[in-house]
Amino acid sequence: MDSGRTGGNPRSGSAAMPVRPLSPLLLSQPREIPVPSLTVENYVKTIHQITSAQQGGAATTGQIASALDVSPGTVTSMLKTLDAARLATHRPYEGVSLTQSGRLLALRVIRRHRLLELFLLRTLDMNWDEVHDEAEHMEHAVSDLLVDRIDAYLGHPRVDPHGDPIPRADDDAVADDDLPPPRSLADCPAGSRFRITRVLDQSAGFLRYLTDSGLVLGTEGEVERNPDGAALMRVRLGRRALALAIEAAGKLVVAEG
Ligand SMILES: [Zn+2]
Repeated sequence: MDSGRTGGNPRSGSAAMPVRPLSPLLLSQPREIPVPSLTVENYVKTIHQITSAQQGGAATTGQIASALDVSPGTVTSMLKTLDAARLATHRPYEGVSLTQSGRLLALRVIRRHRLLELFLLRTLDMNWDEVHDEAEHMEHAVSDLLVDRIDAYLGHPRVDPHGDPIPRADDDAVADDDLPPPRSLADCPAGSRFRITRVLDQSAGFLRYLTDSGLVLGTEGEVERNPDGAALMRVRLGRRALALAIEAAGKLVVAEG
């Protein structure tokens, strides 16, 4: 593509807008908030994911840089933009955290992403290991109106194809960081029954391994062996027994079956 712009996201394609500082003045007048750019949306989403994974603890520049695969210098200059737009604050020695409007924007992007994933899975018959990459691009291109229509079409689902909760449009009550700490399959002692409710590692390879092993969402089973300090545990799924690495089991969130 012949693009005269520089400095944008190389994968962003024609839907991308150039990064520009959002004026704090505009932000104080809600009707005139400019549509946040793809890059701004990706930053607030990433900061939200890092801080909620560590129970609200601030993110470091290094964490953000490695999550977005950019240099720390790039992150530092983007943080100034986010600060000027009052979406995030960056305190030396403390780290980066989102403001309330930054958090709401992050939840809006996450809501779009998760509804799109479920929409692609249900309507186009895509697999749970395929939908993330598609939704990653589409989440910046769809309007809130379209997302609300998709939400209604799907019957206002509570979770996406990986078991991740879908934030509601009206409030931010169902956010990852509001949920109780998840119990993983690796924590279940021998004899306990479980049902898989969420997958934390959503790389395509791991999801395909789960599909091949019959460990999809909703799967119920019983822990046969889970010795302390061992690298392997053994579970029973119906008539089938399966050896499972503790590391893999630690990425499966379960409810009591
Ligand atoms: Zn998902």
